Amino acid sequence: MSGPAAAARRDRLRARLAALDAPAALVTRLVNVRYLTGFTGSNGALLVCADGTDVLATDGRYITQSAQEAPDVERLIERRLDTVLAARAVAAGHTRLAYESHEVTVDGLAAVTAAEPGLGLVSLEQAVEDLRAVKDEAEIDLLRRACAIADEALSDLIAAGGVRAGRTEREVARDLDARMLDLGAEAVSFETIVASGPNSAIPHHSPGSRVIEGGDFVKCDFGATYSGYHSDMTRTLVIGGAVADWQREIYDLVADAQRLGREALAVDAECAGVDAAARDRIVDAGHGEHYTHGLGHGVGLEIHEAPWLGATAPGRLGDRMPVTVEPGVYLEGRGGVRIEDTLVVRPDGPELLTLTTKDLLIV
Ligand code: ZN
Ligand code: ZN
Repeated sequence: MSGPAAAARRDRLRARLAALDAPAALVTRLVNVRYLTGFTGSNGALLVCADGTDVLATDGRYITQSAQEAPDVERLIERRLDTVLAARAVAAGHTRLAYESHEVTVDGLAAVTAAEPGLGLVSLEQAVEDLRAVKDEAEIDLLRRACAIADEALSDLIAAGGVRAGRTEREVARDLDARMLDLGAEAVSFETIVASGPNSAIPHHSPGSRVIEGGDFVKCDFGATYSGYHSDMTRTLVIGGAVADWQREIYDLVADAQRLGREALAVDAECAGVDAAARDRIVDAGHGEHYTHGLGHGVGLEIHEAPWLGATAPGRLGDRMPVTVEPGVYLEGRGGVRIEDTLVVRPDGPELLTLTTKDLLIV
């Protein structure tokens, strides 16, 4: 991710500076620093200048790592990263500096203002997040790998009888996590959700000591991180042989809504329109009030990132944007279903990255 790819990303950010009437940008969100340089340390900030003189600042713990990961960027080893880079901008003759106002704290802003009182600060807005929404093929390869690990881990778990009556949610979640790590994940993408029986009606249930019973829905929402890129997938299973009518009804409804959402993914499609394609199906079936969240989100270096697919989400989709599609219906006290895939928007139709079947799995 370093080298030419990172340099090209900095050039894309540079192209946006003119619109902000700023000759330089101070990037302090760590994930954005990583995206623009390849540097993966836990402390770093980046000055991107319109004239191409970019500077990465980090502290003494990362002298070697920053040189290896970001060899093509000038580096400064300092303790106070934001003020030293603001001073560099002033030394370069700049009187205006764009900064990440959604990230910088009130104290951080005060420190920069006190150190460089003559510097005009303007918001960079979420320019780097916007750039990150569109992936290059190398990033999509990493997402594809992260999704494959999650697919394989669930398949192995089911084949080994790991989802069954008598186990606790926490045992199943730990088993799934261990399988993802054994298959090459560097970490899990987020705290794995295993929600059984009535708990499956809680959209973001934290797996606990409940013992899974026959006839339960078991909703598993999980993902693997691979080279910094996250996967995200949900499958809802049924334990035992008999599926109740109400379970079949809401499963088929969510599966149909999820299909409609996937089919609405297209270059230039309005994000809110994609949400509506799935939501309208659930509302028409009388379950609108049981679907309490947005349809999906972008996924990449963060588990949740731009673009957002929701009822009031602004903007449109573009080529090579990976997103999730994850409608759900949750019946409080009884159970719920969510089905979630990660896909990539493509001109000839979305590419599905999470390949586990969406037929109702009875285990
Ligand atoms: Zn998820
Ligand atoms: Zn998700």
